[in-house]
Parts: sequence; structure tokens; C-alpha cells
Amino acid sequence: MSEKVLTRHFGVPDSRTIKVYESNGGYVSARKAVMEMKPTEVIDTVKQANLLGRGGAGFPCGVKWGFVPVDSPKPKYFVCNCDESEPGTFKDHELLLNDPHMLIEGLIIGSYAIHSNRAFIYMRGEFMNREAVLLEAIEEAKAAGYLGKNVFGTGYELEITTYMGAGAYICGEETGLLSSLEGWRGHPKLKPPFPAVSGLYGCPTVINNVETICCLPHILERGPEWFNALGVEGEGGTKLYGVSGHVERPGLYELPMGTNLKELIYEHCGGIRGGKTLKAVIPGGSSVPVLKADQIDIEMSFSGVKEAGSLLGSAAVIVMDEDTDMVLAFKSVIDFYAHESCGQCTPCREGCRWLKQITDRIVAGKGVPGDPDRMVSIAQRMVGRTICVLADAAAMPTESFVAQFRDEFDAYIRGGELVGADASAAPAS
Ligand code: SF4
Repeated sequence: MSEKVLTRHFGVPDSRTIKVYESNGGYVSARKAVMEMKPTEVIDTVKQANLLGRGGAGFPCGVKWGFVPVDSPKPKYFVCNCDESEPGTFKDHELLLNDPHMLIEGLIIGSYAIHSNRAFIYMRGEFMNREAVLLEAIEEAKAAGYLGKNVFGTGYELEITTYMGAGAYICGEETGLLSSLEGWRGHPKLKPPFPAVSGLYGCPTVINNVETICCLPHILERGPEWFNALGVEGEGGTKLYGVSGHVERPGLYELPMGTNLKELIYEHCGGIRGGKTLKAVIPGGSSVPVLKADQIDIEMSFSGVKEAGSLLGSAAVIVMDEDTDMVLAFKSVIDFYAHESCGQCTPCREGCRWLKQITDRIVAGKGVPGDPDRMVSIAQRMVGRTICVLADAAAMPTESFVAQFRDEFDAYIRGGELVGADASAAPAS
């Protein structure tokens, strides 16, 4: 049985309250950081822990903090990304609902490390009940003297502000998030400059995901060696894997970083629903390349999934059984990205729409033989040519779905039988 770290209070009565959080050792790490450590020591500890960002990119958290020019006269901001908009992902809001003080404690540690006196929690618009939970927890922390003008009686000042987005996928991208937080449309911006140098209101800003921030109190409490030992080389900690789709026991699983994907599906999640056969897995949210059933004997770490030809992303594992129509599965992916493109870049705006139009006509039985190759060609011209990675997020599944399940796209185009799919879903020829 592996150790639970981030989810250890899930199911504990009143786990949202400061009383229960403190009775389990809560706020000891933040107190230690602010009262006993220099900000640089906190950054070094997090670097040594090899905490890679859990939002999807897997960038080393301590290294990101180290980019902040602490001598700059401008204010520094610490922003928690709780937009959680990647389809298939459902981990951050569970952390918020079950253990809001763990996030607040992590925010105190991170803000102190980068000399910030103002932190923001950006939440997607649908998370209204989560905001209420968080506001209550923030009030409790203020009343205890852990937030406000005199944190832990040290004179260090920190305020936390929550902000609700309006439900756009692109506001999960850090520069889009900052635009939205400033009150503008959630349009991403070109990098550089990176937010660590010029972010919110043009000031140095660190943006970290909820799960990343929640790791911080544990790293300070138990040390970077302990954290490293939980994961694989260069990638410390446990990982929250959100498994959905055709498994017996879908849900959120906290397991060591690098857990084998096959083990996750067949042991922890009870295997494929109804004794069916596995067909495909999306290992890290809808934006990453799809894997076939014979490609899942892999380590679910950032490096392990990359080696297998996909990405760990947000570790949202979407499982599809033998009855899944992969053309329709792809259609739901591309419908989403075509809808969510903010429209600033031509390759993304037009490319997503063209991919959607071609997919729609294939599904409608009006596809032509060159369509799958045309889709790949369009996708290849989208990657790396845009302001943010939404274009890549649409292009990568396009290339992999077509490459891995070409027979099903061709079957639709022929108007014939679908391979390994429910024939009732076939278009009229
Ligand atoms: Fe907007 Fe797409 Fe360009 Fe990103 S890549 S900025 S979503 S148009």
C-alpha cells in the first residue's frame, strides 16, 4: 500500500476546518518557513525535492521560483491556477473541497519564497461551491493570524484573493489566466517575457497549479529526500491520477509518481468495465497523443510517458474499451478545441475549424479518401506556430488518432463497416 500524502485527509470528518487541519500537523511547515528559513532556503529545498509542476508542463517548481527578480522594486505576485479546464481532469477541485487549508499553507510558503505579499487563486467559473469552501478557510486562517499584516507574528504580510473565471479553457494557460485576472479577455500572450519577470500587471509573477502548491507543506515538513523517494529519478512525490472512462472503478488515485499505467488500470481501477477488452488510453488529458492497448506497459511519469510517445499532462487518464468508436471519440476532442480557440492566431483559429469541418463530414458519411492525410497535414502546420499551445493541443491528438486508428477513419469514408466499433454508429452511406 503506497503512502497517501495529498489525499490523506480525504474522508476525515470536518477536514476542511482549521481545527482538524492543525490537529494533524497543519501550518507547522508554513510557520517554519516564515519564522526560521530564508526565502532562498525555501527555494533550494523545493529544488532539491524535484517537484515538477502538476498543471501539465512538468516544469521544475523551484527553478521557476528562482527566475523571479526578487530585488525588483515592483510587487511580486503568487498565483494559484485552479482553472482545471483540461477535459478528463478532476483532481484540483477535490483538493480544494477536502483540504483547503493545505492549499492555503502551500500559498504562504510559495509567496514567502518569492517575496510576495499578495496571492491570487484563479478558479474556473463553475467552481462556485469550491470558492465558498475556500473563502471560509481563508477567514479561518486570517483569524488565526496566519494571513494578513502580521503572519505568524513576524511582520510578514500576505493577503489571498480568490477570483472566478468565466469558464474558458484558455484561461488555464498561464498568460491567458493573467489577462483574465487583470479584467481583460483571456487572451494568451507571447513569451518571452515570461510571467516570472513580467506577469500580473507587468510585475514578477509565479503561477503554480493547485496540486503543486499542495505538495509544499509536505516537502518542508518531511524533507526533499523523503519526497524524492516517493517518485522516480528526477521526479519526486506522489501523483494524483484521475481515471475516467471504461474501467470498473473510475476515480482519483494518489500513487507514487511513475506508477505503471497497466497496473493503474487493471489493479487499482479493477480492469475494463464488464470484462471487455481495452482499445485505447489517453494518458494525460484530451490534448495528448492517444495510446493503443499494447502501449500501456509504461511508467506514468513525465519522462516515462514522453518516452512512450505521449505526455503525462495533467495525468487525466481516459480509458476506452473495444466498443469505442475512435472517430467519434476524436470528434468530441476536436469539437472542444475548435470551440475553445481564442482566435488570435491563424493556424489555431483556422486549423481547428478545418479539422472540425473535415471530421464532421467524415462522420456524416461525406468524407473523401484524402481526408485523413489532409487532417495530418493541417495538424503538422499548426504545431509550434502560435502564441500558446492550444494549437498543439488540437494537433497532437489529430495526428495520433489518425495514425493509430486510420482503419476506422477509412471505414467511415468507405461508408462500410467500422472496425471494432458499434456498427449502429456508422453513417448512412
Ligand atoms: Fe488563441 Fe489558439 Fe493562438 Fe492560443 S494558439 S493564442 S488559443 S488562437
